Amino acid sequence: MSQFDVVVIGAGPGGYVAALRAAELGFKTACIDAGLNKAGDAPALGGTCLNVGCIPSKALLQTSENYHAAQTEFAQHGIDVQVNGFDASKMIERKDAIVTKLTNGIGFLFKKDKVESIFGKGSLQGQKEGVWIIEVDNQGQKQTIEAKNVIVATGSLPRPLPLTEIDNVNVLDNEGALNLEAVPAKLGMIGSGVIGLEMGSVWNRLGAEVTILEAMPTFLALADQQLAKEAYKVFTKEQGLNIELGVKVSEIIKGADNVTVKYTVGDAEKTATFDKLIIAIGRIPNTQGLNAEGVGLQKDERGFIVVDDECRTNLPNVWAIGDVVRGPMLAHKASAEGVAVAERIAGQKPQVDLNTIPSAVYTHPEMAWVGQTEEQLKAAGVAYKKGQSSFAANGRALGMGQAKGFVKILADAETDRVLGVHIIGPVASELIAEAVMAMDFKASSEDIARIVHAHPTLSEVTHEAALAVGAR
Ligand SMILES: Cc1cc2nc3c(=O)[nH]c(=O)nc-3n(C[C@H](O)[C@H](O)[C@H](O)COP(=O)(O)OP(=O)(O)OC[C@H]3O[C@@H](n4cnc5c(N)ncnc54)[C@H](O)[C@@H]3O)c2cc1C
Repeated sequence: MSQFDVVVIGAGPGGYVAALRAAELGFKTACIDAGLNKAGDAPALGGTCLNVGCIPSKALLQTSENYHAAQTEFAQHGIDVQVNGFDASKMIERKDAIVTKLTNGIGFLFKKDKVESIFGKGSLQGQKEGVWIIEVDNQGQKQTIEAKNVIVATGSLPRPLPLTEIDNVNVLDNEGALNLEAVPAKLGMIGSGVIGLEMGSVWNRLGAEVTILEAMPTFLALADQQLAKEAYKVFTKEQGLNIELGVKVSEIIKGADNVTVKYTVGDAEKTATFDKLIIAIGRIPNTQGLNAEGVGLQKDERGFIVVDDECRTNLPNVWAIGDVVRGPMLAHKASAEGVAVAERIAGQKPQVDLNTIPSAVYTHPEMAWVGQTEEQLKAAGVAYKKGQSSFAANGRALGMGQAKGFVKILADAETDRVLGVHIIGPVASELIAEAVMAMDFKASSEDIARIVHAHPTLSEVTHEAALAVGAR
C-alpha cells in the first residue's frame, strides 16, 4: 500500500494548489479527483472552477461582450462592420478548448512537481497507528492508500430546487447553461446571484430575452447597497434584463420544448414560459462519498465541514479547505487556504484573512469589492469616512467607451485605515487588486492617495476616491 505525507481529496482550485504547494515543500503528495471531462470519457482536473465555473463562464462572457460591442459600439469608432449572425456552437468550441488547455495544464504541473494524480472517489476509512487509510474507487476498481495528513477539498454542488429536476435539456444548472449551442429566444433564470447575473448577461447580449426571478426582496443583498442599486439600474434600464425581486416560485412545469414557471410577487400571481430555465440558487458543500459520517468528520447544520480559523477539522491531521468549508465560495479563497494548509503541515505560520478576500462579478460593467460594506459598518456601529469618484470624467474610461460606475472607499473615521472598497465600472475585477493589497498592508486612505497612479488609467479613479476620503 502506498503511503503519502499528504493526500488531497479533490483537485479543484483548493485541492490542486494545496497538492502543488505540499510537493514544493518536499512532501510525498497524492491528489485524488473524480472529475470527468465534458464528454464524460476521461478524467479532468481543475474542479468546478476550470470545468464548469470561473473559466468557461468568463470565456462566454468575453465572446458575448465582443458580439455586443460589434453590434452596438464599433460604429461610434467609425468602424463599419456588418454582423451577419452568431454561431453559438463556435463559442462553445472556443470555451471548451480553453477548458481543455487549462485542465491538461494541471496534469502537466502534477507530473513536473511529482504529485501523484489518482483518479477516483476518495473516502476516509479511519486511522491505523496514526495514519489515515483512504479508499479510492475508480468505477468499482478499488485501491487503498495511506496518508499522514489529509486535505479535504471536495468543493460544492449546485443547490437543487425541490420543485424540479435538472435535466440540462430545458432545465439547466451551471453546467447546462455553459453548454447551450443555440441562443434561446426566452431564457428564465431562478436566482440573481453572481452566477445568475453572469449567465443572464451572456445570453442577454447574444439576443435572448432574459427574466431573472429572485426570492430575496433586495438585489445583491450581500453587496454594498449603493453599488447594488447602480448595478440594478444599469442591468434593468439600460441592458433590458427583466429582474423580479421578492419572488416565490410555486410550480415549474416542463413542456416538450419549454418550461413554465408559476410564481407570486407580493399578492400578484404570475406565469412565465421560457425556452430554457437556468436554476442558479447558490451552491451547497459537497461531502458525497467521503464517508464523513463513518469517521465522525464534523459538519454544521448546512453541511459544511466544521474547521477552525486554520482549516483544521475535528479529526487529527485532517484539514478541509475551499467551498466545502465556511467563508466565501470563491476559487482564490480555496487556493489561498490550500497553500496555507500545506505550509501549516510544514510547520509554517501562514495567515488567510477572510476579510480581504475580494469578490468580483464579471457583468458589464463589472463589480468588485473587498472588506466591509457601508451597511455592515453601520450595523457594527463603526464610524467611517467615505470617498467616492466616478468613471464619468476619467479619460481612459471615456476612451474605452466605458465611463460608467464609481469607486467608493470606506475608511475608519479616526485612524483612516481602509475598511472597504467597492467598485462598479470597467475591469473592476482587476482594479480591486490595489485595494486588496492596501487592506492587506493595513493601509490608510491617505496611503492610497499618496501613491502615484499612471495616467491615463482607470486606477486614477481609485486615487481620486482616496483623495475624496480626505475631502480633497
Ligand atoms: C458558473 C460558475 C462561475 C464561477 N465563477 C467564479 C469566479 O469567477 N471566480 C471565483 O473565484 N469563483 C467562481 N466560481 C466558484 C468557484 O468555482 C469555486 O469557489 C471553486 O471551484 C471552489 O474550489 P474547490 O477546490 O473548493 O472545489 P471544486 O472546484 O468544486 O473542486 C472539487 C473537486 O473535488 C472532486 N471531488 C469531490 N468529492 C470527491 C471525492 N470524494 N473524491 C475525489 N474527488 C472528489 C470534484 O470532482 C471536484 O473536481 C464559479 C462557480 C460557478 C458554478
